[in-house]
Amino acid sequence: MAAVLRGSRRLWRRCPGHVALSPVCRRSMASKTPVGFIGLGNMGNPMAKNLLKHGYPVIATDVFPESCKEIQELGAQILDSPAEVADKADRIVTMLPSSPNVIEVYTGTNGILKKVKSGTLLIDSSTIDPAVSKEMAAAADKTGALFMDAPVSGGVGAAASGKLTFMVGGPESEFTAAKELLTCMGANIVYCGAVGTGQAAKICNNMLLAIGMIGTSETMNLGMRLGLDPKLLSKILNMSSGRCWSSDTYNPVPGVMEGVPSANNYAGGFGTMLMAKDLGLAQNSATTTRTPVPMGALAHQLYRMMCCRGYANKDFSSVFQFLREEEEKQQSGGGQ
Ligand code: NAD
Repeated sequence: MAAVLRGSRRLWRRCPGHVALSPVCRRSMASKTPVGFIGLGNMGNPMAKNLLKHGYPVIATDVFPESCKEIQELGAQILDSPAEVADKADRIVTMLPSSPNVIEVYTGTNGILKKVKSGTLLIDSSTIDPAVSKEMAAAADKTGALFMDAPVSGGVGAAASGKLTFMVGGPESEFTAAKELLTCMGANIVYCGAVGTGQAAKICNNMLLAIGMIGTSETMNLGMRLGLDPKLLSKILNMSSGRCWSSDTYNPVPGVMEGVPSANNYAGGFGTMLMAKDLGLAQNSATTTRTPVPMGALAHQLYRMMCCRGYANKDFSSVFQFLREEEEKQQSGGGQ
């Protein structure tokens, strides 16, 4: 880590408001030079579209060629590998499923770091292990490039409307340069601290989100079993101390709210498999920091069980349906 900081100080001086501009800041503020984008999935596709909408030429790649079609039709240049993107762009955003994909895209045979130019700004918005973000930052530093982690909160809808929240980790002196791009894709850009702290904020939020969703689901289920109307119960919760985002904005019970995944058979939204992954990251971090997270551990196990029982691609609020099904199995004699 100390080496990363030393290296960064050597290569980048300070941004506006300080003494001098870093190479990244100077380049990014000079013109709308092409931005590389790697990982055009559910989130990456609308994010890259927003860069195009803001007038940035986009040079993109994805292992799955079908994912590139839409953005190509909108004018993006599509290349075959992350290394080729790095050869052409001096700012690159990555939006990949998990830590192994990020390691492959940055340090693999055709990875970004094979061809990256000194002074390139690398922004990883995937949700991954903070330790991997630090490793990528150290590897990028050896090439003279700068890696920042900037995971997001807000789902596909927020990615499409450019309303994501970015939690950014890396040298504060480069935050302005990162923010210039991130404001094209998000409404809140929050500086968290050194590299890896963006991921830390993200996985803490998602651990609480999962715990809150499970709590809301089991509470609603109990109330219903006690004869309460679910709409009435959620109204009471939302004017009482049990209120939370899962109860008042994203209620997991079908029929309680419109326009949420529970109203659409749990389609769309934030997948159970991704939630299980984020809870796994929280568990790893809890182990390395020796932090007790009993509720987070239970939430992790529940979401893993759901993945094995056909819920992997349903929205994570389907934990309500999962609990109902478990209960129905018990009633039909499955468990006494
Ligand atoms: P996704 O699986 O839809 O998209 C990932 C894309 O990366 C895919 O198109 C895949 O082909 C591509 N990819 C994988 N390996 C690659 C490689 N080696 N080279 C090039 N491309 C590669 O995932 P997503 O839903 O867009 O999520 C991306 C990240 O954002 C995840 O880390 C997720 O946890 C996080 N996130 C997702 C949501 C959400 O609602 N979907 C919300 C917040 C954060």
